[in-house]
Amino acid sequence: MSDYVIETRQLTKIYGDQTAVNAVNLHVKKGSVYGLLGRNGAGKTTIMKMILGLTSVTSGEIDVFGQNVKGREKKVFPRIGAIIETPGFYPNLTGTENLEIFSKLRGTAEPNAVKNALEVVGLPYKDKKLFSKYSLGMKQRLGIANAILHDPELLILDEPTNGLDPIGIAEMRKFIKDLSVEQGKTVLISSHILSEIAMLADDIGIVDHGALLEESSMKELEKKNSKYILLQVSDVFKASLILERQFQLKDYSVQDDQTLRLYDTSLDMGAVNKALMMQNIAVISSQLCNDTLEDYFKKITGGEGIA
Ligand code: ATP
Repeated sequence: MSDYVIETRQLTKIYGDQTAVNAVNLHVKKGSVYGLLGRNGAGKTTIMKMILGLTSVTSGEIDVFGQNVKGREKKVFPRIGAIIETPGFYPNLTGTENLEIFSKLRGTAEPNAVKNALEVVGLPYKDKKLFSKYSLGMKQRLGIANAILHDPELLILDEPTNGLDPIGIAEMRKFIKDLSVEQGKTVLISSHILSEIAMLADDIGIVDHGALLEESSMKELEKKNSKYILLQVSDVFKASLILERQFQLKDYSVQDDQTLRLYDTSLDMGAVNKALMMQNIAVISSQLCNDTLEDYFKKITGGEGIA
């Protein structure tokens, strides 16, 4: 059986003449936090809704817990907890009362389910405060408590930090990390904020215009953070010959007819400049650069970046 808790094959959603999700092959490993990253309108929510059966699939397949969901919805969905859009809590009831209603509706068997879920997210049990008086952070926490009420193995959280302040975001990150590390839950989370996904996810999928542009572990992606020397010269061809012959440099790339990237940042640039000038090659500029993950995302999404 597959190691993936979620696996999609060529998952596609078409609304009228618009392809919202285009042939997505997603692989979410058991016990991992998988971050779907993409700007607003990229297709993240639609992917999640299809997995949860909240919108129909135009074409493609979805496996959850190692088997095709189709026809097994009643067995699969009770094992998933989700936040997609704002949960419909009753404003004139307390947090505990709200969860008790949802717990009954879902037929949650565990008698302490509400108390336990509130404890995980740090909200008081049997508190008198009405939901309408909750801060946004408390509302989001109650949303998570509601999603974990029935102790699901898989959590699907659509932008759970939306609208939260930095402290609220850090708290939410901690709950999610704890659910994964301490309780072994698998989490699929979406965000349009790169730094948030980078801090939380083990694996990441980058969605743009409905397509999954890249799927990778965070560790692999971090390697793409690279340092290099950007060297602009009057003659790239001659300069590379000198660098190879005199400096035994192999790890470099040619950007255009004036620009080289040298990935060995320990090179003695004084000596390089001198050697180039002696061969009548003008050094226009030389600078140490550091590409960040953000630069990388900008590059692969071909645009203004994600966050
Ligand atoms: P956001 O964070 O803004 O929700 P997203 O990445 O989750 O962004 P989706 O909500 O999945 O993006 O939307 C993907 C595309 O599908 C968008 O262009 C959106 O306008 C379109 N779309 C979503 N739902 C519908 C619908 N019910 N009918 C028609 N088009 C839709």
